[in-house]
Amino acid sequence: MTEVERLSYDVVVIGAGGAGLRAVIEARERGFSVAVVCKSLFGKAHTVMAEGGCAASMGNANSNDNWQVHFRDTMRGGKFLNNWRMAELHAREAPDRVWELETYGALFDRTADGRISQRNFGGHTYPRLAHVGDRTGLELIRTMQQKIVSLQQEDFKETGDYEARIKVFAECTITELLTEDGRISGAFGYWRESGRFILFEAPAVVLATGGIGKSFKVTSNSWEYTGDGHALALRAGATLINMEFVQFHPTGMVWPPSVKGILVTEGVRGDGGVLKNTEDKRFMFEYVPDVFKGQYADSEEEADRWYTDQEKNRRTPDLLPRDEVARAINSEVKAGRGSPHGGVFLDIASRLPAEEIRKRLPSMYHQFKELADVDITKEPMEVGPTCHYVMGGIEVDPDTASSSVPGLFAAGECSGGMHGSNRLGGNSLSDLLVFGRRAGLGAASYVAELKDRPKVSQSDVDAAAAMALAPFDPPGDGVEENPYSLHTELQQSMNDLVGIIRKAEEIERALEKLGELRERIKRVTVEGHRQFNPGWHLAVDLRNMLMVSECVARAALTRTESRGGHTRDDHPGMDAQWRNKLLVCSATAGDNPVVPDIGVEVKAQTPLRQDLLELFELSELGKYYTDEELTSHPGSPA
Ligand code: FAD
Repeated sequence: MTEVERLSYDVVVIGAGGAGLRAVIEARERGFSVAVVCKSLFGKAHTVMAEGGCAASMGNANSNDNWQVHFRDTMRGGKFLNNWRMAELHAREAPDRVWELETYGALFDRTADGRISQRNFGGHTYPRLAHVGDRTGLELIRTMQQKIVSLQQEDFKETGDYEARIKVFAECTITELLTEDGRISGAFGYWRESGRFILFEAPAVVLATGGIGKSFKVTSNSWEYTGDGHALALRAGATLINMEFVQFHPTGMVWPPSVKGILVTEGVRGDGGVLKNTEDKRFMFEYVPDVFKGQYADSEEEADRWYTDQEKNRRTPDLLPRDEVARAINSEVKAGRGSPHGGVFLDIASRLPAEEIRKRLPSMYHQFKELADVDITKEPMEVGPTCHYVMGGIEVDPDTASSSVPGLFAAGECSGGMHGSNRLGGNSLSDLLVFGRRAGLGAASYVAELKDRPKVSQSDVDAAAAMALAPFDPPGDGVEENPYSLHTELQQSMNDLVGIIRKAEEIERALEKLGELRERIKRVTVEGHRQFNPGWHLAVDLRNMLMVSECVARAALTRTESRGGHTRDDHPGMDAQWRNKLLVCSATAGDNPVVPDIGVEVKAQTPLRQDLLELFELSELGKYYTDEELTSHPGSPA
């Protein structure tokens, strides 16, 4: 029998980013014991990297803003494929979640009259992003950690034990979820430092593991984003939706090669930075698509006036939603008007005084100075698209964040639906707060109502341990595979064949490659022992990356249209017949014990509630919906 440390909790939250921490706070506030597990150091989650801000219609910068405007912007950004109930809850609740963070101690930047300052971002009608310079995510995490410490101090007063209700398990990776009769019974993993196994017996698990970017070669994401939560959910029997929609942020660094993909915040454009090609032309004016015609400035003069007077002018097309800007940059580079290192120019130097740039964008200033030896107060940056965010994720109930597996909840980037086919910048941090809280609440309510707790079976624990240890014990047929080589091949294929622009024949080649890698992973071999062994860690993560990559590729092949973060060269238009269709991925057993087969099914989207439908003009909806779907709109002639 494998040696395993065993612990018991009411709720296990996997992930200590914004979504995870907010879930922890909520479940603990409801009186439950919570384990929070993260594979990085506590406080090093991806959320820390969020620069631009957190979108919430507080109306501080423009009093015309309200939840309905935010809802409309979010639906437009997602090209009306969003789970509208999630988009509604998000728009309604985001301001309260931001104000609540202040009560935890968050120090947002202020307006001259002392309110929380809000900045412009792509796709948002009004300045809406609450921010702390360009280090907003860091403040979010710092504040929630501080709140957790204060809750632990309360617990100490009551029980004499700081960790009586919240305990942090850092540098600990969960490799498998365990179930009994289809209900969650626990989570199995290992300590990264010692390699020793750990088992959490718990009736409720909240997945808050973030995204999948490490399956792509050029990405703004860090090493943690290996799609673990997505794959854990699939293997436990839950479903994923919208996996074909991957956001390529338009502005990643392109030079030097060692930093290619690192994010250049949209805040640069929000604060006045403009995109230019080698002809010094502000090319975004050429790329306003029909669905946004009339909403964006059509001259440089109007676009520039908009920064100071948003009532009388339309916004700059530099701030179109990310999918539009990324495709525009791609086209400029393809047309030979790209910068020396294969991107375009992002110029803030000629737009703001040096001191103002250093004040508003301190991280960007240092990032370029230190990594590329570029002074952004004097020269333009070179930027290009980078894999940034996955809109697809675990299918959840909007109100409770529960998945189809009883006891399994999900929030944050690993959940799906909220952002439809494309996320607006700033809408992730608010998503984490709104749905992190709801997931914590959902898990707490579920546990409160349980009559009996599912049990962990020893055979499941042994199977999870054997799967984790397999790379130390290859089949012995003389063929050994290196996890680093497999990872490089996977990233290259996803980048080249299922990247920003896709076509059937290339996606099919990617699927062939994925099939080959799924066979080869059975022979992945690592040297040494279980004590801090990065090769082993990667080998364990690889099966997750292969599963989620297969979901992305299969869904991308099935959706024969272009929408948001899914651009098909062979099906360039948006097709109204596809708008109300969701692609749902599930794991079907198959004959590969390491990486199960993936099935994709088409499911109809629930029609938009009447009062929400009426928030839009018929003429706008007509660009996305079929005529039959709009007969109930008051403006419809039918
Ligand atoms: P994360 O913050 O990534 O946390 C994931 C957690 O899960 C980590 O603790 C990780 O260790 C843990 N984990 C993962 N797998 C396992 C496992 N198997 N076992 C145990 N633990 C595991 N969004 C905005 O709204 N505004 C912005 O300004 C913004 N800027 C961004 C800038 C950058 C550079 C990047 C990359 C993203 C940005 N985003 C922004 C997006 C946003 O930051 C993320 O979508 C969001 O932080 C995800 O939060 P999360 O809580 O879902 O996951």
